[in-house]
Amino acid sequence: MPPIDRVRLASDATIISTLHQFLDRLEHFVMPVAAVTALHRVRHAAKEETQAWQRSVLEGGSLVDELAEHALVAAGLQVHLATLAAGLDPSALSPVGDGVCPACGGAPVASIIVDRANAHGNRYCVCSMCATQWNFVRIRCCSCGSTKGVGYQEIDGANGTIKAETCDECGTYVKVMYENLDTTIEATADDIGTLALDLLMKDGPYRRAAYNPFLLRF
Ligand SMILES: [Zn+2]
Ligand SMILES: [Zn+2]
Repeated sequence: MPPIDRVRLASDATIISTLHQFLDRLEHFVMPVAAVTALHRVRHAAKEETQAWQRSVLEGGSLVDELAEHALVAAGLQVHLATLAAGLDPSALSPVGDGVCPACGGAPVASIIVDRANAHGNRYCVCSMCATQWNFVRIRCCSCGSTKGVGYQEIDGANGTIKAETCDECGTYVKVMYENLDTTIEATADDIGTLALDLLMKDGPYRRAAYNPFLLRF
């Protein structure tokens, strides 16, 4: 099991404290009316309702009727999980399965090809919730681990920095982002920024395996 226990997290009182500190900081930003309304609702929600939103995010769900509240709770959870992950000893982490974060058990939001010292051209999966990056060999399905039937698709005329890596074995795709070609890439934000690629893939045989708490499941 990964060291960050998601089952226990949902009832961890410190998460709500982190969430409220995060929401306090958002108060100072100019936001659309719908976002202000959601912020007020989350700030004053009963503990049980907040925990239900947290469970939904941790289980990879998306609430169509409460999308703004869900996004705010997800952002607060990301702060909390990233803080927990940052306190772990990387050398103590071990793989827990394909498509699973070794720190918190979350699904990847995408994978990135990097150009870093001692890691030229290496690939890392990026956790959708705690931001941990774990090494994952290239041309291998990030969801099921198969090395057979892996292909790449992108929108016509795109610059090749973000593609959908498809797998014929499990019928899914996860985006691969080439940070070595564009150093400004940020996995969670650029996953949303390339929604057009998901819409293209929606018409094909592959379903999306990655999780992004700021996108509806489709
Ligand atoms: Zn994680
Ligand atoms: Zn697969």
